[in-house]
Amino acid sequence: MKIIVLEHPRIRSKIRFNDIANTPLWSCLMGGYVASALKAAGHEVRLIDCTVNGWDFSETADEIIAFSPVLLAVNCVYIWENSGAIFAFFQNLRRAGFRGHINLFGFYPTLAYRTILDFSREVDTVSVGECEITVKELASCLETFGSVEGIAGLAHRSGEGIRVDDPRGPLRDPDLFDLPLRADGGFRTASILGSRGCYNHCSFCPVPPFYNNGPLWRGRSPENILHEMNSLVSMGIRNFYFADPNFIGPGKKGKERTLRLMELIRPLKITFGMETRPEDLDEEIMESLVSSGFTSMLLGVESGSSALLGQLSKGSTLNGSEHAIELCRHFGIEPEIGFLMFVPDSTLSDLGENLKFLRKNKLLNRLDRTANLFSHSHIVFMGTSGYRRYEKEGRLTPAGYQGFEGEIEYSDKRVAWMRDVVVFACLHVLMESASFDSPIHWRRPQEQGLAKKVNDYLVKMFERLLKNAESLKTLDDPEMVKKDIEKEIDSYG
Ligand code: SF4
Repeated sequence: MKIIVLEHPRIRSKIRFNDIANTPLWSCLMGGYVASALKAAGHEVRLIDCTVNGWDFSETADEIIAFSPVLLAVNCVYIWENSGAIFAFFQNLRRAGFRGHINLFGFYPTLAYRTILDFSREVDTVSVGECEITVKELASCLETFGSVEGIAGLAHRSGEGIRVDDPRGPLRDPDLFDLPLRADGGFRTASILGSRGCYNHCSFCPVPPFYNNGPLWRGRSPENILHEMNSLVSMGIRNFYFADPNFIGPGKKGKERTLRLMELIRPLKITFGMETRPEDLDEEIMESLVSSGFTSMLLGVESGSSALLGQLSKGSTLNGSEHAIELCRHFGIEPEIGFLMFVPDSTLSDLGENLKFLRKNKLLNRLDRTANLFSHSHIVFMGTSGYRRYEKEGRLTPAGYQGFEGEIEYSDKRVAWMRDVVVFACLHVLMESASFDSPIHWRRPQEQGLAKKVNDYLVKMFERLLKNAESLKTLDDPEMVKKDIEKEIDSYG
């Protein structure tokens, strides 16, 4: 049966361009995994990856109409304020006469399947949770003209409204998944998924609800990962990035597995990066990672305030984060830091603790990093435990496309004021650094000293605003403060 698996075009957000929280990193491989499961089941599958071929929605629609698949399975990714373009694309396909079944899978449709099926009549079904087997069962049902009812994990419309007849439990052994198909496109760094899920329950994260309370973390065997890496190396790939939400698994077993994997990949002489929790690193692991080609790390630190770490259900400590940062540096790796500066329940003292933590750990000395660390706010998506909590407390106003995000009322108005002003300043700086004509364009030599000046300005500005917010009874109009800051930053040019 003819099937298209689609990674749809991504339109860059004008407001959230520095935010990667719209989807967990590993969703970049999801279409490839679904395509390979369908291919293994004997279907004629085309994987169209618009993130690789650069097609827009109109070019993609022409291709779909021409191929005329029975099933169009789409990894639907939330693209902030541009998400409506995806659903307009489905409408256009139908108007152009496309009669195939449209199924959505991925993080966004899993968390928002009810809203999507309510809102978009063009979408027939949504695969909720781990999707490979659900989409495969849907395809075999469409091939035999069977009913879509009774497929575990498949949300569909029925006489009783929108239903998922049974939840789809995640597959226990991730080695059983076929290796993902990859679109041709001469990529230099290959993303790879060494494990699925996470054993933590951070209240803002879409990973735990995606797996529907199934096994929390499942690692592929080191041999299975090596098999995939070997085949990519034979295609000329030398750089890898592990897209796992949590690369190093839990406890002693997780550590042993990582050490074994490192032993196996060491002879490949490749380089790789990954993301992990600070608590999972120790000297032995670091030594083994670095000797196997490890070059880049994103550490999920999230906060410099221990009170907030507890509220985020992060299960980490400040000492653990500081130790992990030191350990990385000791082994020559400068870690990038996942950090939430503004959280709806932050106090001004939490902001002060954040500033102290970032300074103490020498994380405020590079302009792009400073601007990013200062500007990330807590984002709350539908379907996460954080969203439910704020909704229950009556502090959530649906926002974003079809209410997928929650606008949360901050408990301290002064923190919300700080967020408005600081985020504005940092985004202004980040936009400037992305513009080639700007003197602080990130590719221009740092010795010009300008980037350092702007960096120091941002740090001092944060400190000054914090002091003002602590001492003032009435806060200045944020728009006026923003104008002053904009003028000051522009004067450095
Ligand atoms: S540690 Fe928290 S944020 Fe990171 S993947 Fe796990 S649940 Fe998500």
